Amino acid sequence: MKTMFNTPSPSPAPTEDGPPRVRFTGLSAGYPGRPVLHQLAAAIPAFAVTALVGPNGSGKSTLLGVLAGVIHPTAGELHHDGDRPPAFVPQRGAVGDTLPLTVRQTVEMGRWSDRGPWRRLTRRDHTLVDTAMERLGIAHLAARQLGELSGGQRQRTLIAQGLTQESDLLLLDEPTTGLDPEAREQIATLLTELVTDGVTVVHATHDLEAARSADACLLLRDGRLVEQGHPEQVINPSTLARIWQSA
Ligand code: ADP
Repeated sequence: MKTMFNTPSPSPAPTEDGPPRVRFTGLSAGYPGRPVLHQLAAAIPAFAVTALVGPNGSGKSTLLGVLAGVIHPTAGELHHDGDRPPAFVPQRGAVGDTLPLTVRQTVEMGRWSDRGPWRRLTRRDHTLVDTAMERLGIAHLAARQLGELSGGQRQRTLIAQGLTQESDLLLLDEPTTGLDPEAREQIATLLTELVTDGVTVVHATHDLEAARSADACLLLRDGRLVEQGHPEQVINPSTLARIWQSA
C-alpha cells in the first residue's frame, strides 16, 4: 500500500474527466475481522463533486474513512495528488446535538488539526472561522447552541468546521440525509460552489437527487464498485436495480 501527497495539478477542469485528486487500485479495507471494501479501483476527479452512492452498509463511510486517512487499507494503492490532508465532515448524527457547544466553538474545532485543542487561536484562526461562518451563512448563529439549530443549520456548521481546515479535499458523510428539500438543495448548491473555490468534494449519499447534481458518481454495493462515471450515465434503472436489489 502506498500513500502519497503531491503538489496539486494546475488544471481546474470541473469534470469527471479532469485530473484526479485521488486514485486507487486494488483497494481493500475494513475493520478487525470484518473486510468491507474489496479491490476497488477508481479516480476521484479534482475540482469536481463526486458522490459515493449505495445502500446502507455498502461501504460508503468506510471508503470516506480510507480517503480521510483514518482507516488504513489492507491491500492496494492509494495516491493523493494534493498538498493538504483532507478535511472530514462527519454525519450529523455522529455529533452530539446535546453537547454544550456554540456554533462558533464547533467551527473553531476545525482549527485543532493545525493548532491542537489547548493552544489559543491566533488572529488568523479567528479570521478563518469568521470567513467560513459567513461563507455558510451562519455568522448570525455564532452564539447559538448546536442543539437549538435546524438540521440544515447544523450541517452548515459542520461544513464550516471542515472549511477552516483549509484543505483542497472535503469529504462529507451523508450531508443531505434527513434534511427538508430546501435545505438539501442549499447544501447541493453549496458543494457545487465550493468546487469553483478550488475544492474537490466527495460525499457519501443515498439521496439520488444529491447524486444527480454531482459531477461524478461511484456506485457501491457490498463493498464493491458496481459502476463509475457521470451521474447521467451511471444512475439509471438498471444500475439502481443492481445496487438496491434486496439491499
Ligand atoms: P455505508 O456508509 O454505506 O452505510 P459503512 O461503510 O458504514 O457503509 O459499513 C459497511 C459495513 O461495515 C457494514 O456492514 C457495517 O456494519 C460495517 N462496519 C462499519 N463500521 C464498523 C466498525 N467500526 N466495526 C466493524 N464493522 C463496521
